[in-house]
Amino acid sequence: MPTLNQKLQNLTPYVPNEKKYKIYLDANESFLEMPPVMREEIHRELDALSLNRYPDPLATEACEAFAAYHGLPVKNIVAGNGSDELISVLFMSFLEKGDRFASISSDFSMYAFYGRQCEAEHIEIPRNADLTVNPDTVIQTCKDKGIRLLIFSNPCNPTSLGLHSTDVLRIVKELDAFVVVDEAYMDFWNQSIMSGFAGFENLIILRTCSKAFGMAGVRLGFAVANDRLSGILKAAKSPYNVNSISQMVGAVTLRHKDLTETAIKDIINSKGELLTGVRELQKQNGGFTVLDSHTNFVSMQMKDPRRFHMYLCEKGIAVRYTEGLIRVTAGTREENEAYLNAMQVYLEGC
Ligand code: PMP
Repeated sequence: MPTLNQKLQNLTPYVPNEKKYKIYLDANESFLEMPPVMREEIHRELDALSLNRYPDPLATEACEAFAAYHGLPVKNIVAGNGSDELISVLFMSFLEKGDRFASISSDFSMYAFYGRQCEAEHIEIPRNADLTVNPDTVIQTCKDKGIRLLIFSNPCNPTSLGLHSTDVLRIVKELDAFVVVDEAYMDFWNQSIMSGFAGFENLIILRTCSKAFGMAGVRLGFAVANDRLSGILKAAKSPYNVNSISQMVGAVTLRHKDLTETAIKDIINSKGELLTGVRELQKQNGGFTVLDSHTNFVSMQMKDPRRFHMYLCEKGIAVRYTEGLIRVTAGTREENEAYLNAMQVYLEGC
């Protein structure tokens, strides 16, 4: 029997949460159903697709729709099978065994996963005690450690905190490393650096359709970078990485900017209501800290997060317990209320 190499020996399969819940607030998905007008258009376009043919390798229509949505040149956009795939392509192509990459701990768990897969050395840059990021620490650590690639989410999953664009741009400008700014949640905030991408030789920005656009099941993400880096990504990805149906659904959705913007407002309002409710409980009961939120979720530091997480599971409410934080995705008004009621009962019993 052939032996497994080191990186495979330590690998454990992803175990999906198979328990059934009444309410799902654990994956930062959109709680909104697709508007009927979009659904009908997708049905019509599906009938016209030639599924016996391979998809367009460059996902041209989806990239054009993304470009028009954000006012960007289409040649600088690369589509991926979710932004997750683009992270994997970036790691596998920009890093070699032994290269050092940095992330700001704690951040999206897949950065560490893909770093291990390409046998790069992971340097974790610490946050301040209040979980905010000090750009000077980031810059200095990257310089001191000879970092080849820095990646971080902004706003951040799981903290929900964000770095202002001036700080992000300072990091990009000061570093000689590749800087990947994962703006998966930036549709919920106004500090994107995407419009200025062309001025940087070392910058790659990632966006996803899984959060604000309500297409987590479609698997579509985009990278934006200057001619050289976007060209490299197009060459490094597998040719047919985004299937024809996802390309079409993405193009239809992104062309309906008005509907999408309304959906984003609704999600931000829901997050606002959830945040207000949680802050109210904090005032009444204490015992936990609520972080500022620039995303579609609210993150909290609890005294005994594991116990609270278990309690919510028993009540049929799925939230995420990660890196010592309880992370709750904004849901419908009823879902938010159910969560807040459960939290109140829990805190009263503490
Ligand atoms: N980046 C961040 C920060 C995320 O939170 C997620 C999803 N949880 C992703 C990337 C991946 O998104 P997707 O693959 O669905 O586009």
